[in-house]
Amino acid sequence: MDATRGRASVEGEVPRRERPIGLYVLETGGCEGCFMEIESLNGSAFALEQAGFVCVSDPADADWLLLTGAVTRVCAEMVDRVWRAMPPGRSLIAVGACAVDGGPFPAGYATLGGLQALTPVRRSIAGCPPSPDDILRALQELAQV
Ligand code: SF4
Repeated sequence: MDATRGRASVEGEVPRRERPIGLYVLETGGCEGCFMEIESLNGSAFALEQAGFVCVSDPADADWLLLTGAVTRVCAEMVDRVWRAMPPGRSLIAVGACAVDGGPFPAGYATLGGLQALTPVRRSIAGCPPSPDDILRALQELAQV
């Protein structure tokens, strides 16, 4: 992870919005690599808020759900609970290979094999794991859609 790249990547690309997009991050059972890369965006090395985003601790304050991990069977109910707690206009983004289709943790006795087992995955960020810079850039691209 190059902790110096994120700031440069958002210069001149700040979305014009009345308020930042609230991100709620949910880890559902992977190696936690993707989760840690997202968490690092909260540090001073990356300009997450200047790019128009803020991490929130309550799903009720979230616009986007960033889901990492292969969705273990015990986490499936939690995914549903968090999603229902989010306000209308919410969006779901799978971050990392596990979150899309299980990646190295395919469906089995312990995992469902990613979000695709629960719902069509329309928005995702590829990688294993994607770097914080990759994630920030992808979030900015998704915000333009
Ligand atoms: S996609 Fe890779 S880095 Fe991310 S949680 Fe899965 S195994 Fe870990």
